[in-house]
Amino acid sequence: MKAIILLGAPGAGKGTLAEGVRAATDYIHVSTGDMLRAAVKAGTPTGLEAKSYMEKGELVPDDVILRIVGERLKQGTADDKYMFDGFPRTPEQARALDETLADLGAAVNQVFLLDVPTPVIVSRLSGRRICRNCGAVYHLVNIPPKVAGVCDQCGGTDLYQRPDDSEETVLNRLEVYQRQTASLIDFYEKKGLLVHINAGTTPQEATAEMLGKLA
Ligand code: AMP
Repeated sequence: MKAIILLGAPGAGKGTLAEGVRAATDYIHVSTGDMLRAAVKAGTPTGLEAKSYMEKGELVPDDVILRIVGERLKQGTADDKYMFDGFPRTPEQARALDETLADLGAAVNQVFLLDVPTPVIVSRLSGRRICRNCGAVYHLVNIPPKVAGVCDQCGGTDLYQRPDDSEETVLNRLEVYQRQTASLIDFYEKKGLLVHINAGTTPQEATAEMLGKLA
């Protein structure tokens, strides 16, 4: 089993980069945000618990996250290669991930830190639109669909803004990132696992850079 992590502020482009790398490799994209949004949509107990935190831009409690990630890893096999996007987000989650992987005879292999200037992040989040039908991600200016308002992947016509991409919630999410997640940069740097990616460029350039640095 292999495990890599995408680390970076909300809006740094973790999801888009993960999709580019997934398409070019055999890594499995594991996004805790996507898993939680699916749980909210399906109205499961986990979704009901997570919803209010997500709407405010707060982190969902560690025990909820560790449960869903643990369940996902249990379904896997020894050959799986995981690319975590949006996880871990706290020191507690990082420690728990190390333990879970150690139990499976694995370890975190590389941590890719997406470097992006803050003004770029705010513009990315406010312009982000998502296909309600298939989850494909667009940006009104940077990654528009070929036909305005129509999903390139599935033809869906409901491209919506995530409620937590509203301006007020975005500022809170950036603050939460600084307060609860940014210390992981140091944590992984000290372990010698950190790899910087210039993610202020286009998705194609960032994907190429990450593919080139993937061990
Ligand atoms: P994302 O799509 O990664 O931006 O996640 C959207 C929201 O889901 C976050 O603002 C959090 O409320 C929640 N979330 C996703 N991943 C985690 C995590 N690892 N720990 C805590 N909350 C999370």
